[in-house]
Amino acid sequence: MDLKFGKEIYFEKKPLFKITKLQFKKLQTMDKKYVCDVCDWVYDPAVGDPDNGIAPGTSFEDLPDDFVCPLCGVGKDQFSPVD
Ligand SMILES: [Zn+2]
Repeated sequence: MDLKFGKEIYFEKKPLFKITKLQFKKLQTMDKKYVCDVCDWVYDPAVGDPDNGIAPGTSFEDLPDDFVCPLCGVGKDQFSPVD
């Protein structure tokens, strides 16, 4: 997802928020991606995981503890940060 000022973020087909300058900064700093060690699925905070109720802009740290990889079902402890 390309981040632009004023871009509207949609979540479950409803506008969730418009990217403000503050949110833009926040999205950039928490834009740390995590990869599943088991199946290589990548969690991108800018995209979230709308299919599983995770809104765009949710950092990996803020994911619920019961979050599991949508592909292989392992928990958060099986994910590693992507540099
Ligand atoms: Zn996985």
